[in-house]
Amino acid sequence: MSSEQNFPKERKLYRPATELVYVKSVNIDEDTIEDPYNASSVPIYQTATFKQTSSSGAGKFDYTRSGNPTRSACEAHLAKIMAAKDAFVVTSGMTALDVILRLVKAGDEIVAGNDLYGGTNRLLAYLQDHMDIKTHNVDTTSVDAVIEKLCPNKTKMVLLETPTNPKIKIADIKSISEAVRKLAPNAIIVVDNTMMSPYLQKTLSLGAHIEYHSGTKYLSGHHDLMAGVIGVNSSELASKIYHVINATGVGLSPFDSWLLLRGVKTLAVRIEKQQDNAIKVAQFLHNNGLTVHYPGLPSFPQYSLHKSLSSGPGAVLSFETGDVGTSERIVESTKIWAISVSFGCVNSLISMPCRMSHASIPAEVRKQRDLKEDLIRLCVGIEDPIDLIEDLASALTFAGYSVKI
Ligand SMILES: *Cc1c(COP(=O)(O)O)cnc(C)c1O
Repeated sequence: MSSEQNFPKERKLYRPATELVYVKSVNIDEDTIEDPYNASSVPIYQTATFKQTSSSGAGKFDYTRSGNPTRSACEAHLAKIMAAKDAFVVTSGMTALDVILRLVKAGDEIVAGNDLYGGTNRLLAYLQDHMDIKTHNVDTTSVDAVIEKLCPNKTKMVLLETPTNPKIKIADIKSISEAVRKLAPNAIIVVDNTMMSPYLQKTLSLGAHIEYHSGTKYLSGHHDLMAGVIGVNSSELASKIYHVINATGVGLSPFDSWLLLRGVKTLAVRIEKQQDNAIKVAQFLHNNGLTVHYPGLPSFPQYSLHKSLSSGPGAVLSFETGDVGTSERIVESTKIWAISVSFGCVNSLISMPCRMSHASIPAEVRKQRDLKEDLIRLCVGIEDPIDLIEDLASALTFAGYSVKI
């Protein structure tokens, strides 16, 4: 028995980078040791069923839809990283949201942002059309805009993203949560924290009831799996969420749970490097006169608000050229920056959100929400920043800019 497997539940936590690599073995409860060999990497329990020792079947695990040791180890690790009491891993970020949305019933209302992830928008629109669940999309940079749509009897959920993507708008989770808890006490405050990851922002301590992530992004870090993560502090919410996951069978597979657990160990080094690179790239674009949206630039309008919520600006930024054709030429002539949706990967990516990740939002809605068609999004990876900047510089030159590095 190693000391690692016996640390008390209330032990003092190390600093985040240490905790990320400090993974407990499969003994989720301190009293049960399930790995007889003390494997230092949590094994993959690739099995659908577990033999029981009695006819009443009282074993900790019986069927992988309901629970699996690899998934449980991954969940215990993520709960610790998110400062959550319980965490759940599911098959994608959208699955995480789908599970959470099952807490809402027909006739209830949701208040959400107006610069949401495209898939989130699509799922909320589906609920509105099929289930009589109305979503009010408001500008969540304004606490008052959220308050205006709160109805103590009807509002069942407030759904926030910050920073938003791709416009990079900041929602004051803390003030919004305080207002919602006072004015619509039945509403569940949910934050999609994918853009920041738990390494940079912990929303449960800022007032959210539920924090979720697309584990496909920073948590796994290599674009080699899809996953979703849900974290909560209330045991009542935890049991409702577990009920849906078990009832529908969307828990993450053992192999993907193992991959996610492996990926998350390097979260600190990846984010620190990606963020360092992003700051340099943002500065380069800003110095060349482009309109850059990035919370790491002191000129960013909500610089101090973002700083009060998180410990860093992250590695996603967007910028405008003012012309769709120019943006197309830039995006299509970069070499290191791959044209791809998504973010959070070790490789740098470039995209035009209105053409790609946000194309599912109808053009007129994009216009209403002032989502610029020429907007270019950069998701910065861990490459050498000089190569990244030189590649962008030659693309900008090709598109007609006279660039200084
Ligand atoms: C990617 C993403 C999602 C959806 O996650 P999937 O894993 O792709 O299902 C949700 N929210 C945000 C902010 C995302 O970037």
